[in-house]
Amino acid sequence: MTYRTVFDVVVVGAGPAGSTAAALLAERGCSVALVERAAFPRPKPCAEYLSPEATRVLDRLDLAETLVREGAARLRGMRVVSPGGTPFTGRFAGAHPFRGYRDYGLALPREVLDARLAAAAAERGAVLLERTTVEQLGSASSAGRTVVVRCGGDRRTLTGRVVIGADGLNSRVARMLGVARRGRRRRLALVTHYEGVAGMEDVGEMHVGPASYVGLAPVGRGITNVAVVADLGRVRRLGSLDEWAAQLLRAFPSVYERVRAGQRVGPVRAAGPFARSTRRATAERVLLVGDAADFYDPFTGEGIYAALRGAELAVDQLAPRLEADRLGAADLAPYDAARRREFGGKWVVERVVSWMVAHPAWLDHVARRFAQKPALADLLVGVTGDFVPPSQVLKPSYVWQLVT
Ligand SMILES: Cc1cc2nc3c(=O)[nH]c(=O)nc-3n(C[C@H](O)[C@H](O)[C@H](O)COP(=O)(O)OP(=O)(O)OC[C@H]3O[C@@H](n4cnc5c(N)ncnc54)[C@H](O)[C@@H]3O)c2cc1C
Repeated sequence: MTYRTVFDVVVVGAGPAGSTAAALLAERGCSVALVERAAFPRPKPCAEYLSPEATRVLDRLDLAETLVREGAARLRGMRVVSPGGTPFTGRFAGAHPFRGYRDYGLALPREVLDARLAAAAAERGAVLLERTTVEQLGSASSAGRTVVVRCGGDRRTLTGRVVIGADGLNSRVARMLGVARRGRRRRLALVTHYEGVAGMEDVGEMHVGPASYVGLAPVGRGITNVAVVADLGRVRRLGSLDEWAAQLLRAFPSVYERVRAGQRVGPVRAAGPFARSTRRATAERVLLVGDAADFYDPFTGEGIYAALRGAELAVDQLAPRLEADRLGAADLAPYDAARRREFGGKWVVERVVSWMVAHPAWLDHVARRFAQKPALADLLVGVTGDFVPPSQVLKPSYVWQLVT
């Protein structure tokens, strides 16, 4: 296949982060290559729930209505069941003055979401190169950065004035820059789809056990996403992924019974080990977006929003600098600062929630408080829904009500 090889921006990876960045840059008139090793539609192990604020970015790309028409579910909040069995529910339209872009989040299969986002980038003029893997990132020169890509047996070199690394959790771009850091907790997720799970409502569910947790999310058309996350050190591999998933699910008898009432309609897929971050998300003529820049724990389910919003931040920072041709490491550093401003509070909340999940007695304690005072749960769910400022749940008066 013949195509041009010199672009303003080469985006590595067409997940939510890369496709959104490519679409927004192409919309601003930049020439963009969007390089993706898979071919769409492709699956991606994920609990497949999007926060209410994610809909704003999808609307910006004219996708939200289409996705709802195509069957995406609307989730009105989250229900959590603690290890000791205390349930509580937080609603997006909660007992507080904050309102999200919508009072619901969407949930839908990643096959559909990611294919739509990549198509949106292509429709806006990005050159989408599927089945094409980035193998190497060249050093920066006055012409830009080169990336060596392989498509089947064919290798070629693309040049971008800037390269955006949006290649996910194990980002090759981040590793080649030497900025990738591994988290201490090593976890693994097994994800699949069931039809006809008993008792599903219009909320996502998280069931927490002493060593693992299970998420259930209706993703439309009667299908439920079932995701089990466990510490790698605590699970013993038993034969196939199917057996392993069943073994982990049996630790949650009530969930297991509800899931068994339905029928599995997809393979079990594995993801992880995860928990990683980067020392910085910029280098000379390079930006990192989405999981390539930061990924912690899927419990609070905000990775897709971070990918979409991170792409917006990257494009806002990059577009004027492309025009002024100021693309050195120091020129791009304000993107790191913008990420800290945007996500810093959420990173703290994610770590606190993750700590609670790893300490069952504490989670049982706060679950009882949340059950007694649903307004507190609404606030936390609003933070995970990306429309309540994290400071609301980090302030001493809020924490005091939970711990006492
Ligand atoms: C078990 C689990 C459950 C989750 N549940 C949720 C949830 O419910 N809600 C939520 O918001 N988030 C969830 N997340 C997080 C979410 O999946 C990610 O944050 C999100 O996918 C990040 O998008 P991304 O575009 O950065 O990366 P990805 O979606 O991983 O996309 C990266 C893309 O880059 C491509 N790629 C990789 N390497 C190369 C290469 N060398 N060359 C070319 N292409 C390459 C890949 O094929 C892929 O298409 C979950 C994650 C896990 C593991």
